[in-house]
Amino acid sequence: MTTESAFETAQAQLRIAVDQLGLSENDWQTLSTPRRVLEVAVPLRRDNDKVEMYKGYRVQYSTTRGPSKGGVRFHPDIDLEETVALAMLMTWKCALTNLPFGGAKGGIAIDAATLSDRENERLTRRYTSEILPIIGPERDIPAPDVGTDERNMAWMMDTYSVNAGYSVPGVVTGKPIVLGGSLGRNSATGDGVAISTREALRARGINPVGATVAIQGFGKVGYWAAIALENMGLKIVAVSDVHGAVTGFKSVSDLWNHFLKNKNLDAPGTDRLTNEELLHLEVDVLIPAALSDAITGKTAPGIKAKIVVEGANAPTTPEGDAIMNDKGILVVPDILANSGGVIVSYFEWVQDKQNYFWDVEEVKTNLNSIMMKALYEVEAMAKDRKVTWREAAHMLGVSRVAEAHKLRGLYP
Ligand code: GLU
Repeated sequence: MTTESAFETAQAQLRIAVDQLGLSENDWQTLSTPRRVLEVAVPLRRDNDKVEMYKGYRVQYSTTRGPSKGGVRFHPDIDLEETVALAMLMTWKCALTNLPFGGAKGGIAIDAATLSDRENERLTRRYTSEILPIIGPERDIPAPDVGTDERNMAWMMDTYSVNAGYSVPGVVTGKPIVLGGSLGRNSATGDGVAISTREALRARGINPVGATVAIQGFGKVGYWAAIALENMGLKIVAVSDVHGAVTGFKSVSDLWNHFLKNKNLDAPGTDRLTNEELLHLEVDVLIPAALSDAITGKTAPGIKAKIVVEGANAPTTPEGDAIMNDKGILVVPDILANSGGVIVSYFEWVQDKQNYFWDVEEVKTNLNSIMMKALYEVEAMAKDRKVTWREAAHMLGVSRVAEAHKLRGLYP
């Protein structure tokens, strides 16, 4: 089967899990259908007074295990189908890590880099007001994703609160700390990627100290993963951003300091690589931490890493996955590897509900224990059922949603 879209990939992965679990056609019907899909028009008044219309989405794929949860993506390529796919992945991710959430995703088809701060604020507020009836701390809790950050969450929280008439911090996660955000949320996805990398190296019998890593993406996920891995003693040999990849830097913090000053990755002593050269480096670990469809039938054959840890959502197509499996590469799948973000989002939501805030050690300790449990369960299931880590992760996530469906029953 040739598939290119994240939607087809997600559907194919679900089909495999349903078959491996021996679930019924009725289960397939309930599990493969998003529960609530909203498409809105988002008008934006540009700073020059011109009005432009953009498409916005919010998909609540599942609310079976609790309120739906998932990020808001600002990216020109986002469409309804991809939003459904990403909301589906959030559903299995939350179930796999045992968070009391369903899955959701939202977004606007726009390039966030083209927006001034004022335009970004107006767009975010209008989008929030369009999806307002279906979000809320007990309904659906947005968070940052590609192209959005804590500023967008502050505007979303404010727009929702102004309409409610009182402050509702629990409506979004990934907020600034002073508005009820959680310590450790910024680095959470990268920290979780680093924990996953450490455990995958253990499973393969490779010493993390001195192990080599290439990271595609140097944003919210890739940067923090690089920092955490460097602290664990691994050697980051290459990273990339949208403009291409670099190698030869002294340390990640050196490269970051250069980037902050010069807005490019060309620190002294570095060499340029193409994105494909980065994917094909001779390293122990490759971390795709950018967008979907990075590892495909075309790019997978050249991968030389022993372990691939998916920091991004849906970075691998089924063909890319099959090729990596044939090569014996251990793949830590997205719904496990990048679950650190939503796990600490859960902590943020709990802290907002209780109005009681944890110190960063408590956040990190609890993140580690939730991730370790999920990693061990996936590893054990993969061994037991002789399946890949991706298949095991989906089986665990999907089976928990299916079980919750069964126990709740079908209304009426
Ligand atoms: N956007 C992140 C993800 O894909 C985080 C979602 C959340 O925190 O709700 O997992």
